[in-house]
Amino acid sequence: MDTKNNFPKNINYYCTCFKNLKTDKSRGVAPHQPLLLLSIIELITQDIIKENKFLISDELTKTFNEYWDIVPSDYTCRYKKGLYLPFYHLRKSPFWHLTYHKQYMEEQPKKIKSYKQLREVVKYAQLDQELFNFIKSENSRNELIDTLMSMWFDSSKKELEDIVIFNDNFEDKITQEIEESQKIYLRKSVLRNASFRKAIVHIYEYQCAFCHLRVTHSLKQSIVDAAHIKPLSQFYDSNINNGLSLCKNHHWAFDNGLFTIDDNYKIIISSHFKEYSPNCRSMREFNGEELLLPKLNLHYPRLDAIQWHRSNIFRSS
Ligand SMILES: [Zn+2]
Repeated sequence: MDTKNNFPKNINYYCTCFKNLKTDKSRGVAPHQPLLLLSIIELITQDIIKENKFLISDELTKTFNEYWDIVPSDYTCRYKKGLYLPFYHLRKSPFWHLTYHKQYMEEQPKKIKSYKQLREVVKYAQLDQELFNFIKSENSRNELIDTLMSMWFDSSKKELEDIVIFNDNFEDKITQEIEESQKIYLRKSVLRNASFRKAIVHIYEYQCAFCHLRVTHSLKQSIVDAAHIKPLSQFYDSNINNGLSLCKNHHWAFDNGLFTIDDNYKIIISSHFKEYSPNCRSMREFNGEELLLPKLNLHYPRLDAIQWHRSNIFRSS
């Protein structure tokens, strides 16, 4: 029996697979496989790839090349760019399945040296269906992206920090520049958001800023989300000061304006909702209480972001 089938194929299993990619480490750490996975995740998310069957398409090649070009050159300079490399070599991972053309079904070459050769040997690739489904769903997708980013790209590296920490006025640029550069900004924002989530939950020590709940398990997975105060879809602002760590319930309540925060970081509860909470403290009881804040003032939510939330999202009178 195939040993890999002994593991439950849950999200932890795939996060572990993503940590254990068999990348070339002869000249540093080859970024090909994580970048291929990020590209695939992006195309599935955008519904450009609709089924679990990946051809060696121009769209995939282009996405991969663009990721390659935006990650800092430290990661890429010692390696040759080319989607054909990870597309083939990822077959050493248990979740990536290649279907070969007839003449290569029995035996496959050890190495692939070009797109042409890859197309001669390989028909298409598939992921485990379970993994494909995890990518389709936002929460598990974020976990997978975060795993790739924290394992394979060190966000303390200066150049990556420039991408992930600083907001580069995405909004202005997106209206001014052509479609190509919008895509690059979107890609940067995938990297930036992964870093945002990691940073936010870390500085709030995995607790909900509203109710202080902390539930984690071994892989540092946590019940809290990194919530954007000014919505990501409108502002593309993934600065730490536009973030709050909130449990799933209070994230939903915050995004729907059921509570907000005043300029002294005290909770204000809306009077416009019904609530039945027989087993734990009701939301209304938190009215006037202080929000849980990070240790450093530097990381506190920005007042302009909070004010924006109060005026635009909060359901007051
Ligand atoms: Zn909470």
